[in-house]
Amino acid sequence: MKKETILYEKLDNNKVRCGVCQRRCVISESRSGWCRTRVNEGGRLYSLIYGEVSSLSINPIEKKPVFHFYPGSKWFSVGSVGCNFRCPGCQNWDISHWKQGEMHTEYISPAELVSRAKASGCLGISWTFNEPVLWLEYTIDGARLAKEEGLYTNHVTNGFISEEAFDLIAPFLDVYRVDIKAFSERTYMRTGHIKEFRGILLIAEKAKRYGMHVEIVTNVTPGFNDSEPELRGIASWIKNHLGPDTPWHVTRFYPHLELAHLYPTPVSVLEKAWAIGKDEGLWYVYLGNVPGHKWENTCCHQCGALLLERDIFEIVKNSIQDGKCPECHTVIPGRF
Ligand code: SF4
Repeated sequence: MKKETILYEKLDNNKVRCGVCQRRCVISESRSGWCRTRVNEGGRLYSLIYGEVSSLSINPIEKKPVFHFYPGSKWFSVGSVGCNFRCPGCQNWDISHWKQGEMHTEYISPAELVSRAKASGCLGISWTFNEPVLWLEYTIDGARLAKEEGLYTNHVTNGFISEEAFDLIAPFLDVYRVDIKAFSERTYMRTGHIKEFRGILLIAEKAKRYGMHVEIVTNVTPGFNDSEPELRGIASWIKNHLGPDTPWHVTRFYPHLELAHLYPTPVSVLEKAWAIGKDEGLWYVYLGNVPGHKWENTCCHQCGALLLERDIFEIVKNSIQDGKCPECHTVIPGRF
């Protein structure tokens, strides 16, 4: 559904400046922004994707991945089309970079979305699959309603949202699962095609100040972000700015799309990333996309006791009692 957007500035000659993400596109009349989900019609900016759902499924929260917020809970997961990044190995390219006129979506109103999520017995709604920042108006309306109905809410995002857009959605978000894809301008340019990434970090800090539960993902990609300085930069920044209790997921890249010629990230490289995270002082570092690896599990940061045993997205065993380690009674960060 087409809807006038809530964050834009009118400029001379019927141009507009979009304020939703940090690209801040200046858009001439009859043209769309970089993400192609927002168009300038007669000097007014419209979103083309309000309520337009391309993908809908019920997933365990482990699939986001989020490991410290009600492990094993089911989430009503929805996505639309469009992205403000252009990652060459994107796993969701068909919806992130759809062709104009080939949207293949179904309109679901915010009320219908919340009602379906409640009927499914899910703990919350997750805006995921494509970049939820572009869905700002819809996620605000949906998340506000979801909170009124007692559901939790989650964004799975690249974090490139503008500060003013974030302030609008933040009061209605419980869980912020954000990528930190790299720790240099060069790598962020190669992955997301953005010039400046520090704004992503500032918003992640802000999410923490809002009281959201924050978890970070880095998809470790051979030849892109797998160097020690890059990984150490990310780990050290998380520790110093978000706190040592913030979970960091280092996930395995699989060849795809423009990066089909690469090889899957060697497990040894992921184990090195894990060791860097621990060495920098992070309490909870996880390997992702490596089924059966022991570092998919959660061990108490104080005494090392095995607390949560996972098998891919399934919780095999949960020993946490009242949010504490059963062995040393240390409070485990997150909600359980
Ligand atoms: S959401 Fe971002 S990429 Fe899309 S039009 Fe607005 S500023 Fe540009």
